[in-house]
Amino acid sequence: MHLRETTWTDAEAVDTDIALLPVGSTEQHGPHAPLGTDALTAQAVADAGADASDREVIVAPPINVGVAEEHRDFAGTLWVSEETFREYVRETIDSLAHHGWDRVVVVNGHGGNVDPLRELCARVSRHGDAYAVPFTWFDAVDAPDMGHGGPVETSLLQHSHAGLVHEDRLEEATEGGADRWGEWVSGVNLAYDTAEFSENGTVGDPRDGSATRGERLLDEASDALGALLDRVAER
Ligand SMILES: [Zn+2]
Repeated sequence: MHLRETTWTDAEAVDTDIALLPVGSTEQHGPHAPLGTDALTAQAVADAGADASDREVIVAPPINVGVAEEHRDFAGTLWVSEETFREYVRETIDSLAHHGWDRVVVVNGHGGNVDPLRELCARVSRHGDAYAVPFTWFDAVDAPDMGHGGPVETSLLQHSHAGLVHEDRLEEATEGGADRWGEWVSGVNLAYDTAEFSENGTVGDPRDGSATRGERLLDEASDALGALLDRVAER
């Protein structure tokens, strides 16, 4: 059940304690993929996981702005501080729990959100009224070539939101992009901002992506999320 499309009376009648909260980011993903990539992919994974599950699951509306200041040099990128993000997500989880949906899986699509989500979910679970865990979809699938706006994210979008990927810019995206994330010396990443190591914001080669791989990735992510939901429900 998607809260955004549901009346309060129908929400009240749902018999479940499980909720999914999609969390993304609004940030550059190279010249070929939309600023909303991380929110769109998180939502696609949450929807697929909810559809595939035998359980009744609440799907909360997505949080579209996350911890993404590292992309500030590229137009359209939005961000909040880690503190604001942690408080906002935590209070959103508290409000889900208020209605009895107190087992919450945060479905995340952005690397910069990972550390704050882990911290806030631990805090909610230890001291709050809910049990919450973060699920970052690209950590749950076979994606060694993740990059940024690289083949993994591009594939998922080519499957779920084909019209938003500029196929005619994949060449340009690769040429102006970087091979790996960061600028590493002695195990230290010297770069704080993406623009320090990638001219157009891309990391990896999106030409290696395809809608077929995207379909496989979404299936894999949805299976992983389903298994997680079962464990969280039984806990
Ligand atoms: Zn991304």
